Order: sequence, then structure tokens, then C-alpha cells
Amino acid sequence: MVYKVGIIGFGKIAQDQHLPAIRANPNFELTAVASQRGLKPNEAKHTFTDYREMLRDLRDLDAVAICTPPQVRHTIAREALEAGKHVLLEKPPAATLSELEDLRRIGHDMRKVVFTTWHAQYNKGVDIARDTLAGRTVKRLVVTWKEDVRHWHPGQQWIWQAGGFGVFDPGINALSIVTKIMPQPVFIKQSDLQFPANRDAPIAAELQFSTGVEGADLRAVFDWRQTGPQTWDIEIDCEGGPLMKLSLGGRRLEVDGEIVADESDDEYPQIYRRFEELLASGQSEVDEAPFRLVGDAFMIGRRVQVEPFQD
Ligand code: NAP
Repeated sequence: MVYKVGIIGFGKIAQDQHLPAIRANPNFELTAVASQRGLKPNEAKHTFTDYREMLRDLRDLDAVAICTPPQVRHTIAREALEAGKHVLLEKPPAATLSELEDLRRIGHDMRKVVFTTWHAQYNKGVDIARDTLAGRTVKRLVVTWKEDVRHWHPGQQWIWQAGGFGVFDPGINALSIVTKIMPQPVFIKQSDLQFPANRDAPIAAELQFSTGVEGADLRAVFDWRQTGPQTWDIEIDCEGGPLMKLSLGGRRLEVDGEIVADESDDEYPQIYRRFEELLASGQSEVDEAPFRLVGDAFMIGRRVQVEPFQD
């Protein structure tokens, strides 16, 4: 079966990852692109400036991949589901948890697949870490996610607006790994959020987690002001061992100093293979756990104002 898919929002992630992943998968065909700016990739048979026209005109379109900023995802996803399309949601899957719950319900009622994608989870090292941690007690977890916002999000104003999540846009990738691999549920115990004086979203955050394990040291630091080498590391220390380190955003895993996974980037091809499985079985996959931690970090967060940030 070849699924006809349309991309809505043809920005950085759609061009860098979705387009090549769809192109490389013979079970998907890029039938359409809806781009407000009127971008027209050669592969797309149909192009629209208004996604509503795409939903209305292309009756045989099976699915859409929504690659817009999160603030508008719920409205677009709801209309796509109501038009009878399966929906793949870029991360974060919506602007609020209530919106995501609504999409889950509509997908169920319309018998359409809703797929929340958390790309950082699609790494072999992450799967091995989860399997290694099963049944163990984590006594130390240190997440360090530091990158250069000017490099990764050039000119993206939505990311600094309320609902754009600021540094949690990359930080949620770390949290999606944490929620996947941790053997116990993780809660936000403390959250310090640094907001530039001229922005509505944080540029840095320090989080402390709890799992109910007495004396455990569980924390994360996210920072968007890092220049030079970028850091996407998670160190995990279990009672009685082993000592593990996930680095490169989950692509490399060391266990007790030995590299057990070191893969090239295969996240989006894997996302589309998973989408294929879900479409074939008619099952939705709505994982709200990483998103819930972000919501909690904002809910109990202490706001600290820092110097203005200029692009
Ligand atoms: P981006 O480059 O700003 O692209 C988003 C695109 O969405 C815009 O170029 C625009 O494309 C469309 N759009 C913007 N506002 C819209 C609106 N109000 N209604 C409908 N469409 C709108 O952002 P991005 O980096 O691709 O990020 C998009 C999503 O992917 C975010 O949720 C982000 O967290 C996620 N993501 C990004 C990366 C990354 O490395 N950049 C990695 C993984 C996931 P058109 O003009 O073509 O419509």
C-alpha cells in the first residue's frame, strides 16, 4: 500500500527531514504540500497556499504531516481529522495538553490515526538504555542540553512567543528520552526558568526531578546560549551500576565506558516506518508524557528575568 501524504508547513524540519524521509520510503508518496509562502517542491504533485484547500480538494489524500509551529497545530490537526485524514504531529504535538487530549478524542471518533512523533526517541542507544534500566533504581540522572539558538532556529520568531516553548523546544527532546528510558515515573520537583527581558519564552531552564527514590540526584539544564561545541548528553547512574551516558542527542550510548551504540541519524526514516505500521493497524500513538513534564515545568516554574536576547 502506498499512502498519499501531504505536508502542512514547509519550513526547516519539513525540508530537512520530512521530505527526504518520505522520498526514501516507497510506501509513501508526497502528494501535496501546503505552504503559506507558496513553496513548491518538485516532488509534490499538488501545492496549495491554504491547507484548507488541500483538505477540501484532495479527497484521496490519506494523511498529513503537520510541520508548523505548535501554536497552530491543534486547529489544523482537528480540521484534517474531520476531513478524514490520518495525522502525524511534529513535536511538540500541540500548544497545550487539553488540545492534545482533544486530538486523541477526535482521532478515536473519526477512526483516524493520530501519531505524536518524538524524534529523539528513534535511536538504538535509547532503546538499549531503556532495556538496561528496566527494573533498576536510578540514583543519578543529569541531563545537559545546550545549543546555539542562532544556529538551529535562525529568524524563527514563533519560538520566542508564548506557546513557542523557548528552550523547551529542544529540551523536550531530552525529556522525550527521559520519559522513554526511566524505569520509574518522573516528576518535576523544581523549575527555574530564565526569560530574556524582551521575550515571552525562556532561553534557559534548570529542572530538578523526583521519582520517589530517597536521596536521588535527578536534574536537567537546558541552555540556548551555547556557542562552539553543542551538548546533548544524559548521564545515568544506577544503584549497583551500570554507569551510562547517552550523547549526541541519543545517537551514542556508553555503558560503563564502553560504546554500545553509535549510529548515524536515522530518526525521521524510522518515524515514517512507525507511521506506516500505525496506518496499517489503524492504531493511534499518542504519547503525552514528555509534553506533560514541560507543562509541569511551566506550572511550577520560578521566573527569572535575564538580559535581552537579540537574534
Ligand atoms: P520553521 O522553519 O519556522 O517552519 C515552520 C513552517 O510552518 C513555516 O516555515 C511556515 O511554512 C509554516 N507556518 C508558520 N506559521 C504558520 C501558521 N500560523 N499557520 C500555518 N503554517 C505556518 O520551523 P521548524 O524548525 O521547521 O519547526 C517546525 C516544528 O518542527 C516545530 O514544532 C519544531 O519544534 C519541530 N522541529 C524542528 C526541528 C528543527 O531542527 N528545526 C527539529 C525537530 C522538530 P510555510 O510558509 O511553508 O507554510
